[in-house]
Amino acid sequence: MEQELRTLEREASEGLEQISTANELEEFRIHYLGRKGQFSGIMEQLKAVPKEDKPRLGQLANTVKKQIEKAFSVKKEQIAAGATTSAAIGSIDLTLPGRRPEQGRLHPVTQIMTEVCSIFESMGFSVAEGPDVEQDRYNFEALNIPAHHPARDMHDTFYVSDSILLRTHTSPMQARIMEQQEPPLRVIAPGKVYRCDSDITHTPMFHQVEGFLVDTNVSFADLKGVLSVFTQKIFDADLPLRFRPSFFPFTEPSAEVDIACVICNGKGCRVCKKTGWLEILGAGMIDPEVFKQVGYDPEKYSGFAFGLGIERIAMLKYGIDDIRLYYENDLRFLSQF
Ligand SMILES: [Zn+2]
Repeated sequence: MEQELRTLEREASEGLEQISTANELEEFRIHYLGRKGQFSGIMEQLKAVPKEDKPRLGQLANTVKKQIEKAFSVKKEQIAAGATTSAAIGSIDLTLPGRRPEQGRLHPVTQIMTEVCSIFESMGFSVAEGPDVEQDRYNFEALNIPAHHPARDMHDTFYVSDSILLRTHTSPMQARIMEQQEPPLRVIAPGKVYRCDSDITHTPMFHQVEGFLVDTNVSFADLKGVLSVFTQKIFDADLPLRFRPSFFPFTEPSAEVDIACVICNGKGCRVCKKTGWLEILGAGMIDPEVFKQVGYDPEKYSGFAFGLGIERIAMLKYGIDDIRLYYENDLRFLSQF
């Protein structure tokens, strides 16, 4: 009897070690501790032992039972804890705060483009957009740049065919609009332009805004006035302008326009290469040859035109020193604007 109790204790303890699920544990309970289980059987046998042995064996049976029950409840807790952990992995905590979706924004080039357009619109200019794939005639011929003109070499053109190309500037819109409308005209033409060129200050695709005004008695003073208002508004500062004589085939006279350096205020720094000036656009009075191409009377009408690079304006405004950053799609860069 005593031997049986010891064996039962050992078997129960070994059996319990093998158990890993709640179902197995329940089987164990029925087998050892249930109403018809092993233990009940021993208690039955206990009734039949001699009187003098009863207290000792009864006590032993009780101790063994308590030990098995204790080990059983420890195992039960372990299995319950494991179940809670695995349930938590696959569950959703409804009390956690929600995840805010990332907020998108306009690309810095688009932002500056919009700002430039709205400044000119406030001065009465209307906005016209033209095709990116352009005819040689509008990109060059109508702008007084005939075939074999040396100015063509400066454009690094992507040709689609002999007479079709990706526009190298937004100036073709001058000819397209003047062909269709009579003066007075006040138009800006924003958009993408393409040149086979790539380095720290050039990308094969970039953005320009072309602007032109045609009317009677338009003078260089009008050009200067419009550009002064524009630079004041876009840089939010009253910056001196400087006009340097230059050459463009479709304007005469022509000028490169500089503003006092926005970084050092004209004192001279790394960005302005110690000159105190930053080149921001090209401009001039529209060449009479261009008027003749579209059928305007150059004796009656005069006008000015200018073209500026949007990336360049944004670089100066935000202090960006590498134009390629705009097109690398790096959110660390783009989310700053
Ligand atoms: Zn400077």
